[in-house]
Amino acid sequence: MQSDVRCDWPGCTDVATTRVHGRTVCCLHMVDALREIVKKGPNGPLDNEGRPSDSQWLNSIGRLIAATAIERGEGGGLTPAKISDRGYDFQISPPYVRFSIERHPAGFVNEQHWAFNLDTDEFCCESEKTLRSDLGTDENGRVCCPDCGSVELVITPGEVRCQECPFGRLHEHSLQ
Ligand SMILES: [Zn+2]
Ligand SMILES: [Zn+2]
Repeated sequence: MQSDVRCDWPGCTDVATTRVHGRTVCCLHMVDALREIVKKGPNGPLDNEGRPSDSQWLNSIGRLIAATAIERGEGGGLTPAKISDRGYDFQISPPYVRFSIERHPAGFVNEQHWAFNLDTDEFCCESEKTLRSDLGTDENGRVCCPDCGSVELVITPGEVRCQECPFGRLHEHSLQ
């Protein structure tokens, strides 16, 4: 962007550093411009997965969360692309925008429910449930190895490994 382009936020004379859907804005007002779009709500209806058809709004909520919560290290590994491309079941009731997203730690498909507060920029995972798992469960409901039944599993987001047989799963990088 040319250095003589000024931020078009009312009253601001700083150099514009980025664009927000047709506006040229400085870093500070990028967040305000994104928030303005998100607060207005998406144009048009949600589809049957609860995703707004308004791609500008979806792009803006991802960038807004990235510029605030994720920038502070609070995104739980989410990125603007993951939020915009894979979020579903959006519920927009100001000041909250809530959505669900599937995550894929090794051995599991989990559904997380996130809430972003448009007034405070707080972003938190309100709940998480397991949708599917490659692992088994024993008679007490404990997660166990699907091959040998052992509960001696080492489980991290990146890997599940049985300590008593060769069973193991790595997380799928393409989906994480
Ligand atoms: Zn500005
Ligand atoms: Zn095993």
